[in-house]
Amino acid sequence: MALIAPVSSRKGSAKNTLIAPDICQKSLATPEYRLCCFRCRRPRSGCYCALVAPFESAPRFIILTQPREAKHSFGTGRMTHLCLKNSLLVEGVDFSRDERIGREIDNPRSFPVLLYPRADALNLSRLTPAQRTALTPPERQLVVFVLDGTWKSVRKMIRLSENLARLPPISFDPPAPSSYRIRRQPKSYCYSTIEAVHQVIELLAPDCPAERRPFVPQDNLLAVFQSVVERQLTFTP
Ligand SMILES: [Zn+2]
Repeated sequence: MALIAPVSSRKGSAKNTLIAPDICQKSLATPEYRLCCFRCRRPRSGCYCALVAPFESAPRFIILTQPREAKHSFGTGRMTHLCLKNSLLVEGVDFSRDERIGREIDNPRSFPVLLYPRADALNLSRLTPAQRTALTPPERQLVVFVLDGTWKSVRKMIRLSENLARLPPISFDPPAPSSYRIRRQPKSYCYSTIEAVHQVIELLAPDCPAERRPFVPQDNLLAVFQSVVERQLTFTP
């Protein structure tokens, strides 16, 4: 089955892991608030900003974050946005009247698609590199809209946002199970937002054997993500 992205189980994370309280969302009057990083919105002790090496991605990504997901201590939508210089992060549920989103969709220089595993989605994993390159019309930039939230909330976002639902959907086959061990995924093929974005970049990158590219900018996405996961696991009994 084609997979994707923005999935998480709030119940699962609470049940299976010991997650530090999100002190950034607590009372602003508490002393802990001053210890919160305003960029990644993590407690200073868990701030990952020093690991981020921002780069311009191709394609460009627009990350649409469900408000509850945006407040989650381990939401990877913001993490992804901080890594991608040319990304846009917008919080909301119904984007049908969002002017910024409307402008992005209608931009004649863009070719917007939606990363969403619908039955009619074009599975990037099953295309050749040449076919993937040919997806984007000449003189236009591929722009991938990514929905960041639980499966339930993402379905609601699509239901309410007919402008997003009309976009051609793309998906991919996950090459390996998710590494998001601090939040239980509904299925092994479900990826966090940052893992999904990394995989799309990999699939659309110029075809080049791994041995010829010991480091590529998108490696930073997984490096930051894995560092946060590993750090949190040290607090998990
Ligand atoms: Zn930070």
